[in-house]
Amino acid sequence: VRRLPRRGVVVRLALLLFVLAWLFGPAALRSAVPIWLPFLVALGLEVQFFLGAAGAPRRGRPRDRRGPQDGDRLRFGYGVAEPDDLLLVREGGAELWIPYAGETGEDLDALVATARERAAEEATAPARVTGARPRPLRRLLLALAVIGAAAAAAWFVDSRSGWRGLGDGTRHTAEALFSREASRIAGHPATIHCDDAGAHVGFVQHADGIAVVGGDTAYLTPERCYDLYRLAFRDEVHSGATGRAIAVLAHEAWHLHGVADESTTECYALQTGVQLGRRLGLAEPAARRLMRQQFAENGATGRVHPEYLVTGECRDGGPLDLHPAGTSFP
Ligand SMILES: [Zn+2]
Repeated sequence: VRRLPRRGVVVRLALLLFVLAWLFGPAALRSAVPIWLPFLVALGLEVQFFLGAAGAPRRGRPRDRRGPQDGDRLRFGYGVAEPDDLLLVREGGAELWIPYAGETGEDLDALVATARERAAEEATAPARVTGARPRPLRRLLLALAVIGAAAAAAWFVDSRSGWRGLGDGTRHTAEALFSREASRIAGHPATIHCDDAGAHVGFVQHADGIAVVGGDTAYLTPERCYDLYRLAFRDEVHSGATGRAIAVLAHEAWHLHGVADESTTECYALQTGVQLGRRLGLAEPAARRLMRQQFAENGATGRVHPEYLVTGECRDGGPLDLHPAGTSFP
């Protein structure tokens, strides 16, 4: 009856749930948290468990102290400092300390029997028990193997889903479409790359894309490209993510057009995003709704990155209104 500390079980379950959520949950989680982070945390915890278990005393407890000793608690699956209930059962001259959570009747009998067996085992095979130090090491190695397997599985699924999971031909077709749309806004031929290698995008956490002002090439993150692809080729709309992706493509295209100021670029992008979204397959009201949502969220983004905050000039009839005659904004 070998039990892991409860804390360890909880941590491992939490890691498993997180990996599942990361792989199959909302895309926002993927873009916000790098996948290696939970594995690093899990690794650190396992090493800490190992050092804690290896350093704790297992035998030779002082006889004059009544109550369960650290060694007992560890052996019965409890952390050293956890004040869980233990039940004392006296048998002949021996004392059995049993982890107790309110069990009654048969359950309690089973607990006592288990503890009795263990005590008998220890009495008949003391050498094996005193020599049981490698146990924490074996547990650490097992944990490392599990973490490694989970990381490999996450990497495997990730490499076959999202933008990277699309075929070469599909990605080129999609990039060609994004490039045509960017060229319209830029006013000259432009190329959009959905950067796979991360060589140009991703150094700065908030960077969804990069463009040289007045240039002819822009890079978008694979996540943004995948949202655009799903809209244009599969008619899939994931409101916040789709709206953001449209705004990002428009934003970089306005940089290519020659606009340098981030606030002005974003104001233009949210207006142009309505027609861009329509050309990528949205009905006009839906496209307008998405851009208004982005406009409303601009304040929240602006608190972290003030340079992207649109100004009072970005309003219907204002100096940055691209269609002063129209009454809709964005
Ligand atoms: Zn920008």
